[in-house]
Amino acid sequence: MPTENFFDHLLDENSDFQNDQLIEDCMQRFDLDCDGFLNLRELCSLTDELFSDENGTSYEFPVRMCAEIFYAFDADRDGKINIEDLKGFWFKVIAPVIKPTTALIAIDVQNDFIDGSLAIRNCPAGQEGFEVVPVINNLLETVPFDYVFYTYDWHPEDHVSFIDNVNLRNFHETSLIPQEKAKIFDTVIFKGPPAIEQKLWPRHCVQNSWGSELHPELKIADNATFIYKGTCSDIDSYSAFWDNQKLSQTNLSDEMRSRGVTDILVTGLATEYCVGYTAFHALEHGYRTILIEDACRGVDLKDIEATKEKLLERHGVIVASDKVKNMVLGRDRRHDLGYRTAMQAVTSNKY
Ligand SMILES: [Zn+2]
Repeated sequence: MPTENFFDHLLDENSDFQNDQLIEDCMQRFDLDCDGFLNLRELCSLTDELFSDENGTSYEFPVRMCAEIFYAFDADRDGKINIEDLKGFWFKVIAPVIKPTTALIAIDVQNDFIDGSLAIRNCPAGQEGFEVVPVINNLLETVPFDYVFYTYDWHPEDHVSFIDNVNLRNFHETSLIPQEKAKIFDTVIFKGPPAIEQKLWPRHCVQNSWGSELHPELKIADNATFIYKGTCSDIDSYSAFWDNQKLSQTNLSDEMRSRGVTDILVTGLATEYCVGYTAFHALEHGYRTILIEDACRGVDLKDIEATKEKLLERHGVIVASDKVKNMVLGRDRRHDLGYRTAMQAVTSNKY
């Protein structure tokens, strides 16, 4: 008879993670040799149970990763996880894994990227931008996210990324493409200062234009937060956190931090630009980051694949939208996210 997953009883809405008794129960449950500590093998059985899917099937957390966590949380380096070490692990890892605070971000689901001047169906991958709308709507209707954010690409008329503005600024001498030959989708270097590499796009998402409006069929969640990016004339901004030069930030990080968000789930347009850059910056900011694959569409298949690979390397997770609900409810607990949470806690030294 398989024993019941210890962590499943914590899924109850009323579970109080601050209750020390629960941590002691956890120690007792996994301290198989009853010596009052967890050794590496015992911690591995804990993580095998912690990181499992909604059917109770373990993700089989690699022993190498478990060992890294073991040594990171063994504060006094005595080769054992004592109750104090387990408390650190409990609050920094187990609690957010079981009860994540989630934010869905719908990136740039705007008219121009769907039916307007930069409709991504006209880009090399030939993907249909509108297809993200029903998927995001369905997520909003069926998954109890704690928070929902929408971003706007929101450019002034003289924005640096527009092909028809290419003569407003001087090129840097290192630009491989000379100013007079620059065309759409070329990457050029503007003189600055600072010198800035820039891909040239059709004029799109001009502030307060039809093209910059969210698609009319996109559902807007109650209490949504809206983030505007790319608002500076001279610097483009793919990410909803930082501009492309990391010279300025939007208020997204502060908004997330003040709400205690642990998990950011990214959707929208386009996969390898604004969605991907936002996901990478979410990871840099220390959030558990999930890309919902069928809720994104991109520009170029090769670049989309490269973005996904990079995300996985950094212990982000890529899932289909039908997996999201169980993840948000803490029933489907991915080990990559857990590993990242643990290592983040250690490097920020806050546990
Ligand atoms: Zn733009």
